[in-house]
Amino acid sequence: MAKKNNDIINGSGNKNSPYILFSDGNGNIFEDTSLYVTGRSGWDALPVPADEWIALPSGGQLYELPDRKGIGIDVQTGEMRLCDKGWAVAAFIPPAFTGLYLAAYETLPGAATLPLFCYTAAGWKDDGFYVPAVRIEKDIRQESAGFEEHKINEGVNKFLTAYSHNRLVKHLAQNCCLTYHCPAARNYFMGRWECPIPTSPACNANCIGCISFQPQEETITSTQDRLMFKPTAEEIVEYTVPHLETAQYPIVSFGQGCEGEPLLMWETINEAIIEIRKHTQRGSININTNGSKPDAVKALCEAGLDSIRVSTNSVRAEIYTPYYRPNNYAFNDIVESLKIVNAYGGWTSINYFVFPGMTDSVDEYEALRKLISATGLKMIQWRNFNIDPDWYLGKIGVNETGERLGIKQMMQLVRDEFPDLKFGYFNPSIERIKGNFEMDFAH
Ligand code: SF4
Repeated sequence: MAKKNNDIINGSGNKNSPYILFSDGNGNIFEDTSLYVTGRSGWDALPVPADEWIALPSGGQLYELPDRKGIGIDVQTGEMRLCDKGWAVAAFIPPAFTGLYLAAYETLPGAATLPLFCYTAAGWKDDGFYVPAVRIEKDIRQESAGFEEHKINEGVNKFLTAYSHNRLVKHLAQNCCLTYHCPAARNYFMGRWECPIPTSPACNANCIGCISFQPQEETITSTQDRLMFKPTAEEIVEYTVPHLETAQYPIVSFGQGCEGEPLLMWETINEAIIEIRKHTQRGSININTNGSKPDAVKALCEAGLDSIRVSTNSVRAEIYTPYYRPNNYAFNDIVESLKIVNAYGGWTSINYFVFPGMTDSVDEYEALRKLISATGLKMIQWRNFNIDPDWYLGKIGVNETGERLGIKQMMQLVRDEFPDLKFGYFNPSIERIKGNFEMDFAH
């Protein structure tokens, strides 16, 4: 639970701030005009600067947080206090936007762990919902307005017929697209942009917030089930080559939310990349990975891998290790994997799980500067961390998050020091990697 911090607010009560939200526990959400909303950073509740609020973007959702009470600033006294009118409320902000503060609330004893979603602060003003966030990515590939159900269903029928014996296409259709509504799978069946290639039923890490596998003893469930078979190189090549040859801004990506670690299947991936490049030079071949096996990464670069995205909750080994709980690899292996792809001239990104108070701590910032310089990193994907904040900090044993910069301020410092480093949320196409990275997008 976040700590109220009256020392910080005296004299800075924010008249332009949105009002706090609360729910009646039945899904109805109301504003409390006696309290301005605060934001959470680490374990602290703080006032949010007026210029960091934006209207809740289209595709965003609001969550009521059972057994949690929101922390606000009294509009009269300027004192921080709890909202006793109902449960706290948070926002799930859509991909392409990065949250700058978490929802600030006090968790009551016995409260259940929250499911694997992001919990950004949210408030009400000027007849609308507001969140502290920035649009970090111009690409529109996951904008809800761009998905056309009839085209998706047409694509599913067409590809299931065209690849009737392909287990992967069946998995992408029945599970990813029609059950989990995975944006990558939906884009594949619409014949555009990034196409997913899940390959691995197993993983060599044990992430606390794994979205494809949660141990029995945990009370939360994974948001999707892990792949149950090992695809062949033939199955991979059969549907990815036509995608690369025909789609707009085509990317094919190994490493998806519905599998374990793709590098455990590197031999199959290696064979597939070699075969794909025999048929087409178009598009980008990318791997989303935990980066644990640098030797395998080297082999994939030799085969023709174009880009890598390494996921991490932190660039400090002491924060990374208690979260990833790695089997037979260490934090330095992921650094090595980034260096190797860079040495082969490939595109390197980190899939950076943003947690206000941790990501923008001074220690993390200093470690990030070192990693960028040491690896020649090309891009940071500032991703919202889909995890219960109390549960996360408790599990990795962090009681004090230290001095913080502010997420927005940290982004600016990194931009100033590394002007060629790109910011975003998604893997870029080869047209952006080799051409105009700042190109515009339209539905
Ligand atoms: S690396 Fe990915 S699949 Fe493996 S435990 Fe972590 S989140 Fe799960």
